[in-house]
Amino acid sequence: MSAPLRLDLDGDALVANWRWLGARVPDAACGAAIKANGYGLGAAAVMWRLADAGCRDFFVATWAEAERLGPLPEGVTLSVLHGVRAEDMGVALAHPARPVLNSVDQVRRWREAGGGACDVMVDTGMNRLGISAAEATSGLLDGLAIETVLSHLACADDPNHPLNARQLADFAALAGRVGARRRSLANSAGILLGADYGFDLVRPGIALYGGVAGPGGESVTPVVRPMAQILQMRDVPEGQDVGYGATWAAGRPTRAAILNVGYADGFLRALGASGFGRLGDAILPVIGRVSMDLLTLDATGAPDAREGDWVALDFDLPRVSQASGLSQYELLTGLGSRFERRWC
Ligand SMILES: *Cc1c(COP(=O)(O)O)cnc(C)c1O
Repeated sequence: MSAPLRLDLDGDALVANWRWLGARVPDAACGAAIKANGYGLGAAAVMWRLADAGCRDFFVATWAEAERLGPLPEGVTLSVLHGVRAEDMGVALAHPARPVLNSVDQVRRWREAGGGACDVMVDTGMNRLGISAAEATSGLLDGLAIETVLSHLACADDPNHPLNARQLADFAALAGRVGARRRSLANSAGILLGADYGFDLVRPGIALYGGVAGPGGESVTPVVRPMAQILQMRDVPEGQDVGYGATWAAGRPTRAAILNVGYADGFLRALGASGFGRLGDAILPVIGRVSMDLLTLDATGAPDAREGDWVALDFDLPRVSQASGLSQYELLTGLGSRFERRWC
């Protein structure tokens, strides 16, 4: 079945971004965070593409996400960042993925079940998930088969934030005392902080998908291009209004294009004010309010626009983020299920 809206996904750009990130931390392996359906792109498709390029370490948030991936590529390991709740144990013991144990209860639960290989998250100042340094060195972890010890940076997108160096030092001191085979600290922004942050394994997400994670991160290539089809063209006479609430009035005779995309697809109302599409060389600004399933553009500058044409929606992540107040993460993960995802 053909959908009137699609995401054009650039597989070469995805792989190029993964290689570029890996080259920032030459002594570390470069993994990939593919939680939240691969930040909206499609987690299994991202995993298979990156596995073909040589990526061996993948991260999802939950066991439901792990199961949805289907069979894992040969030689690949998957870590489940949220660890094991009591309700997860059946699935977790049967699945090839490893839990990232985050709390004392999770450690005990995994050990009592004889769970085998696992990862462990230690908190170094973010106060989100993870056991404390004191817990990590208390004997709690003795005898566990720990593959990777992880921590997570709170402020890596701000290279001047003093917490970065503090977390780096605390993690370096602690990681050696946890009997793990590998150490992993950096997300995308952490990689940009420098090779010191690489340790043995890095876990980028947003930058793989074209997000600019921080200063120096502009070299990534965009991966996601949302496209929507024109359902109708109409002439709006001068002085008439467009859309819900009649928030936009035509100051001149206007040719309007009605697109098959709306806030239910992740094109939120906050993107309306500064949003635009492109048809050939023409820029088509959003006019009026974004509807649930529809979006109206001023196509006066594109006299050739016709019903059925595909319009590329502006999705420059840093710029759209700046203009809308939504984070690049929110922009990507909000992309809805009605888009047909097409890799090219
Ligand atoms: C989401 C996540 C990542 C990836 O973060 P990005 O900022 O998208 O690169 C890495 N590690 C953990 C623990 C995460 O939750």
